[in-house]
Amino acid sequence: MFEGDYLLINYDKREIKDSLTLDNIFDVLNTFGGNPEYTNFGVLASTICHNPPGQGSRKLYYYENSGLFRCYTECDSYFDIFELVCKVAEIQWRKPFGLNDAVRWIAQYFHINGTYVEDEETQLEDWHLLSQYERINDIKLDKNKQAEVILKTYQPDVLKHLDYKIKITPWLNEGISQEALNNANIGYYPGEDQITIPHFDKNGRFIGLRGRTVVAADAELYGKYRPVKIHGLIYRHPLGMNLYNYNHSQNNIKTMQKAIIFEGEKSCLLYQSYFGIENDISVACCGSSVSHYQIQMLLNAGVEEIIIAFDRQFQEKGDNEFNRLTQKLTKMNARYHQDVTLSFIFDKNLITGYKDSPIDCGKETFLKLFKERIYL
Ligand SMILES: [Zn+2]
Repeated sequence: MFEGDYLLINYDKREIKDSLTLDNIFDVLNTFGGNPEYTNFGVLASTICHNPPGQGSRKLYYYENSGLFRCYTECDSYFDIFELVCKVAEIQWRKPFGLNDAVRWIAQYFHINGTYVEDEETQLEDWHLLSQYERINDIKLDKNKQAEVILKTYQPDVLKHLDYKIKITPWLNEGISQEALNNANIGYYPGEDQITIPHFDKNGRFIGLRGRTVVAADAELYGKYRPVKIHGLIYRHPLGMNLYNYNHSQNNIKTMQKAIIFEGEKSCLLYQSYFGIENDISVACCGSSVSHYQIQMLLNAGVEEIIIAFDRQFQEKGDNEFNRLTQKLTKMNARYHQDVTLSFIFDKNLITGYKDSPIDCGKETFLKLFKERIYL
């Protein structure tokens, strides 16, 4: 193997892994028949690392803070998502799978159509060669010679077949305006009883479709949000390689030089409902962590402040979840504070509910939290 290829594959691997959210990991485990469930540390699944689906005990742990799996029985070791793919390939597909195969598999699974390259043109050429293996057809270099990830699009025709006449009553009751729902093309897919949320890239290209099931049992089993499956096609995309709603808010973000990052799509809709679509500076990272790529998108837009508005993922000050959250935010600040001012909306006085987004309890509560946001 050429050295250049090797370096690039590693770089690719790191960026891809970085962009996978907890929901993405859950999705992969689900596909492999690991019967995953969300836990307070990440995800718990059956040991599909060394058993066929349906046979192992529930001893495969995925730790969100480290991004690593640990099998507590036969493998008795830590490994990452790519190694898991290699293990599963041998057991379920009876194929020897190397690291590069696994990286390619994940890239294809999540519809990743491009990746970062380092800023040397020679490497870009190598990367073009490498890309023959994949379905990559587009790489754009920005003025800093940084490659932009161009995600593959799905046929937007599918959106025409969703129901937009039905009233999305649960969301309207939470304070989301009909105007915001229309603006975001929120619809309903009766086949799976899901509220549908189309995702677009910054140029308005249709890159993924997520659904929120309205069936309570399904929500527990599969998580609240998951990619929508219609006629056998699953409309998934790597959540960390895009910012939800950026296609709508980017002009305001560039003008204000500020952006607010929420965890979930619904928070953006609430923000628009309370403050007007014309004032919208919100985006959603679609998970409980922000990827390097997402920060880079905002830096490219010239922001001077990024406001992190995560959910209140702790019950009380000083509990385990509180410590994990504050550590995460501190780490984020350390990583990016030289490039941009980060501020954090943090409900230290517990005026919202457990697991609430800062905007879930109305406009006044949000404004209070916003004004009291923390600079580390
Ligand atoms: Zn194992």
